[in-house]
Amino acid sequence: MREPRPYAPLTSRYGSIGQSGEWHEAIEAYYWDKLPESFAIAEALGAGFGGGALRWYRMIEGEALTRQRAEIKELDDTLSIEHDPRDIELGDEHLHAIQTAVRTVAGRLGWDFSMAVRTTILLAEVDAPWHGARFGYCVDKYPYDKICIPARAAYDPAHLYEVMAHEFTHVITLNLTQGRIPHWLDEGLAMLMENAPARPIGQWQDPIALNAAFEADRRDDEGLARSSAAYSQSAQIVRYLHSIGGDAKLAELVRAFTNNNLWDEIKINLLGEPSVEEALHEVYGLGQKSLFEAAQ
Ligand SMILES: [Zn+2]
Repeated sequence: MREPRPYAPLTSRYGSIGQSGEWHEAIEAYYWDKLPESFAIAEALGAGFGGGALRWYRMIEGEALTRQRAEIKELDDTLSIEHDPRDIELGDEHLHAIQTAVRTVAGRLGWDFSMAVRTTILLAEVDAPWHGARFGYCVDKYPYDKICIPARAAYDPAHLYEVMAHEFTHVITLNLTQGRIPHWLDEGLAMLMENAPARPIGQWQDPIALNAAFEADRRDDEGLARSSAAYSQSAQIVRYLHSIGGDAKLAELVRAFTNNNLWDEIKINLLGEPSVEEALHEVYGLGQKSLFEAAQ
């Protein structure tokens, strides 16, 4: 049985809530995707001290309500889809969009489908402006990796393709880098895979500021602008990497986070060298600083 590998971007987004006893059980059941159990505990606990567990509560609630009403279809050996047909009707073109996104991204990054993936289209009613991950998210659960897509991103098959390609990229990077990938590279790769067009960037950020910008509170205009500029800059950097070595080098790069010898691991774990520095040097012969300068 696999040990939990918490999804770093998500855990950093949701903070240290859930460390106390009962929330731990709700969250453990959540990672098993046992949503009725998880939601029953969460409902009994409420939003936690000072509302601190509200984000967990909201995620569990959204997925649990969807589960109550949903049908689950196995599309193939590794891919299943869960949705409420009364809430959103998925035609062949929607299923085709999901499968094509998965196959295309897997092909580009050389992913071998070693991990089962559940795609859930969340009920329209569980969306809210203050949800922590409103545009879709993925969670590394025990039985499968789960991609949750808000209903409004699933009506149009072309939009569904983009969100699916984006989130499926995170499934691959999470598994291959064991959570070591920095935000900028993770999001830049996902933007490349969803075929996002180039957008204005504004002030060019260094790696630390760029990673921090993904944590901006997206509920106000300033935070939203900061985070969308971070996505645009990250996408530009990854397009630059793509122009050097195409898909093949990007596929090598995500594997370079974990193919390390003992000395690499000592540098990373004991001397605190960011894992991405080692990986970039290995595959492209450059570090973050020169990459950020060259891509600007
Ligand atoms: Zn993303």
